[in-house]
Amino acid sequence: GGTIGILGGGQLGRMMAMSAAQLGFHTIIYAPEKDSVAAEVSRDFFCNKWDDTAALTAFIQQCDAVTWEFENVPVAPLAPIADRITPHPRALETAQDRLAEKRFVEELGGTPAAYATVDTHEELMRAVERIGTPGILKTRRDGYDGKGQWRIGSVRDAEGLRVPDMPAIYEGFVDFSAEFSVILVRSKDGEIRYWDSAENVHENGILAHSTIPAGAAIAGQLKPARALAAAIAQRLDYVGVLTCEFFATAAGPVFNEMAPRVHNSGHWTIEGAATSQFENHIRAVAGLPLGDTSTIAPHIVMDNIIGKAANTALEMLSEPDTHLHLYGKKQARDGRKMGHVTRITRDAEGSGSTQ
Ligand code: ATP
Ligand code: MG
Ligand code: MG
Repeated sequence: GGTIGILGGGQLGRMMAMSAAQLGFHTIIYAPEKDSVAAEVSRDFFCNKWDDTAALTAFIQQCDAVTWEFENVPVAPLAPIADRITPHPRALETAQDRLAEKRFVEELGGTPAAYATVDTHEELMRAVERIGTPGILKTRRDGYDGKGQWRIGSVRDAEGLRVPDMPAIYEGFVDFSAEFSVILVRSKDGEIRYWDSAENVHENGILAHSTIPAGAAIAGQLKPARALAAAIAQRLDYVGVLTCEFFATAAGPVFNEMAPRVHNSGHWTIEGAATSQFENHIRAVAGLPLGDTSTIAPHIVMDNIIGKAANTALEMLSEPDTHLHLYGKKQARDGRKMGHVTRITRDAEGSGSTQ
């Protein structure tokens, strides 16, 4: 037993809290938004702004361990209590800035897309000239689900673009054959386990589908991608679940970005792996032994339920081996992640059970 504090109140925290409850822990949520879908399944809720070290300290005092589910938790207010948070917030610092993240990964031998920092329109034009088009301009901080990104197809596009009023980075568009993520968990004593990598398909910058097994293009790139993810975890002395997103290319895996947390592309592990990403994150944070990460079926697909698609989601309840998760969000705004569904096929042929 014991109490685990979670910084952030979204669906990742909700699913973490449900796994924690299964292992006999209480959870307490700290989040600024009043409607927290994680608080709904937790014992207590500190509804408070991030920038408040005194409140964060009081919160931590009620917990035996503290972790986060939100990758943009401001790091500065955590400084006096950083040593009591798992993983250590140094991982947030690196992952919250696309420039710091890319430099860090390059130092470890990883390969990101070609990039240049862009603070002015002039710098954008120089970056486009050097790296070429197509490309993507991204704000260095605070982007998620493709927000804070502008696709640039030509020099003319760049000329007409108003650069954002904050530090940004221009990335050459990677000619990938597929996208995948490496999700690992690292324990307090440094043991690392990996889940199988799903093939991820994004639509409008938002993850739409994750499929297990990934295709051959990905299978051949897992070894170097896993090695890089492990090097990242070790260098950060990371404890918990860490996700790295990659593009599979003819030249090998290109690093896209990391998420120092459980990840949407790992939701299939709830029913599809012996131990889910959420349970293993809780185990690692609580200093418990890690669980088996193996996949339990030959074919698994996770589909996100986005926006109004949630209105008809209950129709899926009559489908066999179909596992519906709704996050309890009140407003089905366009582009909002409302839930997900995992479909498992247990026979090797990937066909139905008839015939
Ligand atoms: P997340 O919700 O995963 O944190 P994000 O807003 O941080 O998303 P990215 O991962 O940077 O966004 O980009 C979202 C998607 O856009 C990628 O998964 C990929 O499909 C596409 N994309 C981003 N950068 C590139 C690139 N340099 N080349 C090709 N495709 C890209
Ligand atoms: Mg991101
Ligand atoms: Mg991403």
